[in-house]
Amino acid sequence: MKRYIRVKTLSPLSISSMRDEGNINRTLDYIPGTVLRGYLANRYIRDKKLSNPEVDIDFMSLFNGNSVRFGNLYPEGDSPMGIMIKILPATSRTCKASKGFEKQRQGIRRNHGIKDFLIEFLRYEYTGEMEDECPECGAPMEAIGGFYCQVGDHFETITAKKREIAHNEISDLLQTSKPGILYSKEAIEKGQYFIGPVIMPDTQLDSYLKRGEKFYLGTGRTRGMGLVELEEISEEDSFPPEDSVSDRLKKLNRAIRNAGIEKRFYFTLNLQSDVIIMNDYFQYLSYIDHDELYKRFKHNILKRFSLKLFYTGSRVLSGWNAAWRLPKDNEIVIPKGSVFLFESNNTLTDNEIDELTGVLEKIEKEGIGFKKNEGFGEIISCHPFHYIGTQLW
Ligand SMILES: [Zn+2]
Repeated sequence: MKRYIRVKTLSPLSISSMRDEGNINRTLDYIPGTVLRGYLANRYIRDKKLSNPEVDIDFMSLFNGNSVRFGNLYPEGDSPMGIMIKILPATSRTCKASKGFEKQRQGIRRNHGIKDFLIEFLRYEYTGEMEDECPECGAPMEAIGGFYCQVGDHFETITAKKREIAHNEISDLLQTSKPGILYSKEAIEKGQYFIGPVIMPDTQLDSYLKRGEKFYLGTGRTRGMGLVELEEISEEDSFPPEDSVSDRLKKLNRAIRNAGIEKRFYFTLNLQSDVIIMNDYFQYLSYIDHDELYKRFKHNILKRFSLKLFYTGSRVLSGWNAAWRLPKDNEIVIPKGSVFLFESNNTLTDNEIDELTGVLEKIEKEGIGFKKNEGFGEIISCHPFHYIGTQLW
């Protein structure tokens, strides 16, 4: 069963991003599923005094399979509770001169808005035409990413509030502070809320996650950093219903037809969390194409499609094995927000659309790639912002 859990930071929280700049340790702006899963696994081992967790059946089913999945917890910012936090697709663009969703306060327009350019980019492929300037002021549009939510009939970007804390550097060897070396640690402020999905059988969920429980996540625990409280576990899917896969597929294709591209059929895959995938030769992939998709989901309808456009980057994920005090092997991830547009050269019959809908539902349910139980590989298809965001918001 899929539940959503909400965590509140009770002290500054810093989760190493491996993106240090000079003497500043940056923090991630969300809580990866890996971190929550790591805490729960450690607590389980401690509570049950397991010396050999690999032979404990419950431990293995909770922390080693794909039946239990800990999703990433994303910041709620100032959004009203109970609103789904989403990731802006990598095709989102905003006015370079006045960035961000349009905000009207007391009749004064603050920002020029954010628009999704996927359909514009596709139109460019077929017509060579694209409107890529801000309709308000003519300035160029530039890429914008991050978290957002929809509140009523408008959108808001979401950021976790952060600050920098000065520290003495701790020597890895001696576990004492190195004299004279100061650095700043970036941390998420206390009093911030994070929300994300956890999928596990109900009986297990109730015994391992308890409302009101307080625990430490991230770095700097000896200095009191990283104390969080499990504020809420949703009773059921408590968010307002989204468009179904079938609705999203139809709306995306309608919007593409309205842009003048006809007699073809499309779907997108949008990464809601980072994805780690390898080909048959154990090489990390920086994109997902039709062959990889077919290999994984083996449905003939996928053979009708090829990867038409994609917007992504890749980054190296490195970790630190605390027990061994050694770096973990680097992995290459395809970052959340990435967009993959698949195209069929013909329209689909109603039966074929139903088949495709079934496959896309399966992809959303199962996710893609490695470490799905730690929050990686979460996919939605036909992200609503591709068809809603065709105008400036
Ligand atoms: Zn503008």
